[in-house]
Amino acid sequence: MTSDKLKNLVRNWIRENEDQLVKLIQSLVKIPSVSGDEFKIQDFVYKVLKDMKLKPEMMNPDLEVLQKDVDYFETTSYSRVGYENRPNVVATLEGSGGGKSMCLTGHVDVVSPEPLEDWTRNPWGGEVDGDHLYGRGSGDMKAGIAAMLIAVKSVQELDIQLKGDIQIETTIEEEDGGVGGNLFLRLVRPRVDAAINPEPTYHNLGVASGGVMYFRVVVKGVPAHAATAHFGVNAIEKMMLVVKALQDLNVKRQESTSFSIVEEADPRMKGHVTTINMGTISSGDWPSTVPAKAVLVTRIGWPPGETREEVQKQVEDTIATIAKNDKWLAENPPVIEWFGWYARPHLLDLESPFVKLMKKNIFDVIGSEPKFTGGSAGLDTRFFAHRNIPAVTFGPYTERIHSFDEFVSIESTVKTAETIATTLIDWCGV
Ligand SMILES: [Zn+2]
Repeated sequence: MTSDKLKNLVRNWIRENEDQLVKLIQSLVKIPSVSGDEFKIQDFVYKVLKDMKLKPEMMNPDLEVLQKDVDYFETTSYSRVGYENRPNVVATLEGSGGGKSMCLTGHVDVVSPEPLEDWTRNPWGGEVDGDHLYGRGSGDMKAGIAAMLIAVKSVQELDIQLKGDIQIETTIEEEDGGVGGNLFLRLVRPRVDAAINPEPTYHNLGVASGGVMYFRVVVKGVPAHAATAHFGVNAIEKMMLVVKALQDLNVKRQESTSFSIVEEADPRMKGHVTTINMGTISSGDWPSTVPAKAVLVTRIGWPPGETREEVQKQVEDTIATIAKNDKWLAENPPVIEWFGWYARPHLLDLESPFVKLMKKNIFDVIGSEPKFTGGSAGLDTRFFAHRNIPAVTFGPYTERIHSFDEFVSIESTVKTAETIATTLIDWCGV
């Protein structure tokens, strides 16, 4: 049979089995899996893969292996709960040989649904209303995981013998940087020839991810009675100098940084492809004491084009400069600590055969040319790209991820599965 006929067969099979796909997304959504608490859902995926007659394995991250890698950083969920009982799940559908391999990868962890009072649906309910399936993680990215599993199932159920292997993996802690998840698997699993990460891209083709780093600034003051505040040094007021300097740096960076892929996919991003976000600020005990310490925590994100070291130096130089111009800060310089997220950006070769194949298959299923997207947030896909493996992000339509009443479009998840399945046939060969 020609591959075109096989592609029609898998597409039909997926459409006929939409119920199965919806049930699978619902089952995944009904298992809470906030980063750090991934065991239950991974146990469920393990059983699904077993029912598919695959030989799944659970792989717990090994800190010693991770720490040797240039992209290692301690994630905030590791700091909180460690890596015990936080397995990644992997399985391989073996090909007959002589074909190219493909990895289908998705993260099972989700962000907290708090504050719950904003939700009008049960965040762990998987409620279906028309084309929408609601719940925390429905769009980011349990529908994508269900789509990739159903795509593999379509190939199996139709007895299509692929030449190349399919590696299937569900990973932990992506929301937190993906270190013990996708990075760990890249260090211990066989190298693949391409990968698809079905994060929600609204059927655009994700070819880039942004760099992301967290840092904390600590400024010291001198405590004093408020009535004699001039005997002390107010840490909040000194921190305001740091905040102002970082705001100015943010404006300067936004004016001088562009990244056409993000801007063309979403014109609202023009002039905002890099951001320094003031995340938390804490200081002071009560109105009658001059605060002696202030702590600012921020996230800086940026598109491909700058290294982590260049960005760090810019931030550190900016803070050093304002400190030099203030008598107190010159003698008591703000302390900068980089912690958590420490991700390099990535950008794929847009002319690579795999990117072209994905574009064609998306067009065939969706009916329109996909836009390229990516570059403003960190993604697990980067761990493949940094190893020169063509890896794309491609997934369904969703709204309000990381917010209340998150939902995913069922129809777009069906189309995601169809696109993945047809790409498996083309890429792995029959
Ligand atoms: Zn995600």
